[in-house]
Amino acid sequence: MARDTTLTEPHAADGDSLHRRGLMLILSSPSGAGKTTISRMLLEHDPHIRNSVSCTTRSPRPGEVDGKDYHFVSQEQFDRMAEDGEFLEWAHVFGKSYGTPKAQVKAGLKAGQDYIFDIDWQGTQQLYQKLERDVVRVFLLPPSIDELRRRLTGRGTDSAEVIAARMDRARSEISHWDGYDYVVVNDDIDACFEKVKQILAAERLRRARQTGLIPFVREMMEPDGPLA
Ligand code: ADP
Ligand code: 5GP
Repeated sequence: MARDTTLTEPHAADGDSLHRRGLMLILSSPSGAGKTTISRMLLEHDPHIRNSVSCTTRSPRPGEVDGKDYHFVSQEQFDRMAEDGEFLEWAHVFGKSYGTPKAQVKAGLKAGQDYIFDIDWQGTQQLYQKLERDVVRVFLLPPSIDELRRRLTGRGTDSAEVIAARMDRARSEISHWDGYDYVVVNDDIDACFEKVKQILAAERLRRARQTGLIPFVREMMEPDGPLA
């Protein structure tokens, strides 16, 4: 039988020539703990992972680009997409709607594309219920509540009122820490990034994701195969 070494283009450069199903790396944390920073570092350093761009009804922050950071949509557009079943998951966060569009991700996973998701615990639960085997759930914790407040203030993107609301919500978000596969404290940013990269590297090697392994091993086991 011919060996199925179908190359998934994004992984060929790694010498990883067996076909692999993509994974969904979910990064959640209380707002301000650093998931946007870690996502950006991963996207910059790892050509094999893409951002899943969510839809949101909130306004863009300075520097955010429509179609790259989010698809910024009206509430009417969002509601229509939700009704038409265009989201893999969606939730209300801070009084705004956020959702993950379905189409691109489903096709990409099959083709071996990895995606990173910056979504909250509600979205994480929904994705896990739908696509349990594709999901890798990582929760980032700040080193302390005081440091979380410092980061939210230092980011300079939110009013005092919004920061107070995010701090109020932080405790309830942290209470969902045990719904994740991995928990990483984001104290030193480089150390945190290193840990997230290690998680990703190990998860990519999971047997169930390496769909090209079955024909590869079968051929090795054949009576007149390489082991004979
Ligand atoms: P989130 O996406 O979780 O809301 P951000 O990534 O926007 O958080 O980070 C909030 C702020 O904290 C940003 O200004 C970011 O530069 C800063 N930050 C993130 N990680 C660290 C870290 N390990 N040490 C110090 N500052 C950090
Ligand atoms: P922000 O407005 O700071 O970008 O995001 C606010 C919160 O919404 C964060 O906790 C973020 O993880 C979450 N979020 C962003 N996109 C999505 C999404 O598509 N679905 C869900 N459930 N949460 C999201």
